[in-house]
Amino acid sequence: MRKNIVAGNWKMNKTLTEGIALTKEIAYATSGKNLKCDVIIGVPFVHLASVTELLRESSIKVSAQNCADKVSGAYTGEVSAAMVASTGAKYCIIGHSERRTYYGETYEILKQKVALALENNLKPIFCIGETKEEREAGNQNAIVKAQLEGSVFNLSPEEFKQLVIAYEPVWAIGTGLTATSEQAQEMHSFIRSLINEKYGDTIANDTTILYGGSCNSANAKELFSKPDVDGGLIGGASLKANDFVAIIESF
Ligand code: PEP
Repeated sequence: MRKNIVAGNWKMNKTLTEGIALTKEIAYATSGKNLKCDVIIGVPFVHLASVTELLRESSIKVSAQNCADKVSGAYTGEVSAAMVASTGAKYCIIGHSERRTYYGETYEILKQKVALALENNLKPIFCIGETKEEREAGNQNAIVKAQLEGSVFNLSPEEFKQLVIAYEPVWAIGTGLTATSEQAQEMHSFIRSLINEKYGDTIANDTTILYGGSCNSANAKELFSKPDVDGGLIGGASLKANDFVAIIESF
């Protein structure tokens, strides 16, 4: 059975002190509760070591938001998948639309990042999704298919099983515009059908597909009620413990 997951993506927010305080608040608010989903927080690189140490006894897992597409060496400012894994982080967000748009991350670069994350036992949270223009032109399915084919459908079944997929329509990220639960279900079901075609029924049914894009405590329950929506990747609403925990408790 696939896992339900609520994952936070803090993006470039919170100093280390603020991040530690937020981690403590989330851990305190969820501890001892019978949660119906796994919880992951995606923190900036400089928070990783401290946050994983803080959460050593907790069921909350830690994710990086990116990793380098190179193994090691003269790449000033980059952070490798091995470095991320050495902090105790278990996940790595790869292919977020902000990375694709602002940092020119191509299908090929993302393919390298996914491969390196997997080599280092990090589970990629692989993000896909169409822009507003692409949806208005009716191209959303073709885009999402190309993103999967371009960066992750090269993986072996054993490798693919390590992935979490996040469907994040770009027009919904940080905009306050959320996909309707019907739009999310339609796309998640399409994504699952593509995984089925490529890797078969068992892997398709076992793959967690998260929705991301202005998901909050007011709309999470409705989105998560859909059969192919297995949780959320949460940006803005993951920056306040109360909001994030309310989303977790939507399950
Ligand atoms: C995200 O950045 O992954 C995201 C979904 O952001 P927001 O929830 O703020 O739209």
